Order: sequence, then C-alpha cells, then structure tokens
Amino acid sequence: MSIQQKIKALAKQNANEIIEIRRHLHQNPELSYHEYNTAKFIAEKLKAIGITPTEGIANTGLVALIEGKNPSSRTVALRADIDALPIIEANQIPYKSQNNGVMHACGHDVHTASLLGVAKILNNIKEDFEGTVKLIFQPAEEVAPGGASLMIEAGVLENPKPKSMLGQHVAPNIPVGKIGFREGLYMASADELYVTVKGKGGHGAMPEMLIDPILIASHIIIALQQIVSRNANPKTPSVLSFGKFIANGATNVIPDEVKIDGTFRTLNEEWRWDALKKMKKMAEGIAEAMGGSCEFFIQKGYPFLKNNPELTRRMKHNAIDFLGEENVIDLDIWMAAEDFAYYTQVTDACFYRLGTRNEAQGIISGVHTPTFNIDESALEIGAGLMSWLALTELAEK
Ligand SMILES: [Zn+2]
Ligand SMILES: [Zn+2]
Repeated sequence: MSIQQKIKALAKQNANEIIEIRRHLHQNPELSYHEYNTAKFIAEKLKAIGITPTEGIANTGLVALIEGKNPSSRTVALRADIDALPIIEANQIPYKSQNNGVMHACGHDVHTASLLGVAKILNNIKEDFEGTVKLIFQPAEEVAPGGASLMIEAGVLENPKPKSMLGQHVAPNIPVGKIGFREGLYMASADELYVTVKGKGGHGAMPEMLIDPILIASHIIIALQQIVSRNANPKTPSVLSFGKFIANGATNVIPDEVKIDGTFRTLNEEWRWDALKKMKKMAEGIAEAMGGSCEFFIQKGYPFLKNNPELTRRMKHNAIDFLGEENVIDLDIWMAAEDFAYYTQVTDACFYRLGTRNEAQGIISGVHTPTFNIDESALEIGAGLMSWLALTELAEK
C-alpha cells in the first residue's frame, strides 16, 4: 500500500470520529482569547492519540510534534485556529451551540477537528516518513491583535523551525470535494477606522449659531472615498467602507458630535500606511476648515496575506495528485483578512480553501452568518489532504 493509499484509508476510517470532534467543538464554542475548555479538549484528544502537546502558549494555544524517522532533518508546520464568534446560532441541528450568543460561524471547529484528524493519521504512519510535523492550535484569529502574532512572539516558529507552513480555511462558496489555491497575494490587510467629529450642537433652525458635525462628517466620508479613487494605484485592490454613522440628533436638533466607523483594506503595505496617513490628514483638515475638530483613531489590523508561490505551486500539484485535477481550483483575491497573514510574512506558507458547500442540502450560508454550516464530508477530505500535503512537503528536498 502506498503512503497516499494509507492516508486515504486512515482518513476514511477516522471520518466519524473527526465529525464527532467537530460537533463537540461546534456545540461548545468559545470566544477569542477565552478558549480554555477548547484547549483542554484538544490536549485530551492529543494525549489519547499518544501525543503530548505543549499547552498554554499565548495563554490558550497548543503545539504538538509528530516525529517521524530522523526527526531533526526538517519540519513542516500545520495550523488550525480554534476560536468562535459572538453570533447567536440559528441552525436547528442536534449539535447546535450550547454557549448562547457564541457560535463557530467561521469554521474554526472544522479546522481544529481536521488537524486532530491529521494528528491521528500521521501518528499512525510515523514510521513511513522522515522529519517532524508541527501542529499549531492557535487561539483568537477573529480579534486583533490576533493569536497568530502572539503565537509567533511566543516562539512557535522556532525549535524546531519549520521549512514551510500550511493552513486551511472552510469555503462556503466552493462545493464540497473541491480545494482552492492561489499563488502570491491572496487576502487583504484590514484596519479599522474610528472617527469622532466634533462641532457645536443646537436648534436646527439656527445654523448660524452652530458647527454642524453631520455636514462635516459627510464631507469627510466623500473626501476619503476620493483618496481611494484618486490616490490608489488602480492596479492595487483597495476598499474603504464606512458601516456606521451615528448622529444622535433629531429633525430639529443638531448633535455636538458624530461617530463614523469604517474599514480600510488593501494588498500593498506601502500604500496601506500612506493611505491611512492621507485619510487622517484629510479628515482633520476638513473638520478644522469647517470650524470643528476630528479625532481619527486607527485600530491596526492584520497585514495582507501572501502565499509563497513555489510552495503553493507544489501544494496545488500534490493536491491534484490526491484529489484529481477536476477537484482543485484557482482562487481569486479575497478582500477579507486573516491572521495567518502574520505567518506568511516570516515563513514560506500556503493558505488554501476547503470546499464545504452543498446546495442540494441547502448548505450555502457564508461565514460569519447565524446559519453558517458545512457539509461534514469535507472533514475527511480536509484531514486526509492536509496529512498528504505535509508529507509531500517533508519529502521535498
Ligand atoms: Zn472569521
Ligand atoms: Zn476564519
């Protein structure tokens, strides 16, 4: 039996257990930075397989090593994120969230269950490969500063240092059975903007006595959108969206201040910082020129995500070998952000997508929605493929 056949057989054999693990996690979601029971559960599952993890990294993170023959020769790291979101689950399923108001709506339960499946599969065949597979269970992907940066600070990419790193993410827009890759730039940086515009409120009938912060904020939004349309290189994807505009006045009451919150995303670090600087200057200048003032606060988010081209090409090639040409697709740029980006800045890394959609079963909701769910047959594929990709990368000289 070839290694690939062994992996496929083990993935199939363990599929039900991986589904059970996913359901347990789905039923017991925990918010970013608070994944205490999740971490305990992961540690128990690893110990049951015979792997002793290092626990408590960046508080609720874990790292485990599966050592094949000649373990110090090379290392490949695999990452799963473990946190959930503040969403009230609307799915009527037997394994619905029991932690009210918290939901695994981004599929991190799927990533964690898959990686535990990988642990089971690879631990079973460690006589068949050379090198070390490092499993990284990372907390807090969903909330800045992001668990990835904290795990890197805590040293998860040292001792042993991986030659390359893989991460997978569920894809509700890709049919189950298919996998997506993209070489190079894939996901955006994302920064949050919190702008407070101050004026002088009063009776709407006497504008000459007031400094209208609603009008100032309106000018600011239009001017900032023009920074995107006039200053950004048209070849660099950029998006600015304001989703919050709070002016708590009335038909005849002008408020003292207005709050506008937005997000700025792009795929170029230099332009990212240049744009943020221009926006702040523009907003403050407009407010001042109109007699008011403006506090422009930038909550720095994740950087852009860049897949190492050579590694991604190899992984795509090996995924085709595992799943067939018809099941491996090319991805478009995605303007969402992901803290896996931090790993891609410091090591050769590849972040790919695992199809989880099943239209016939009505499984079509996007991530971060109360009805997000997956076709669970994706778990066998996710665990099997990741095991295979890790070993092909270890075998690569
Ligand atoms: Zn998410
Ligand atoms: Zn996610």
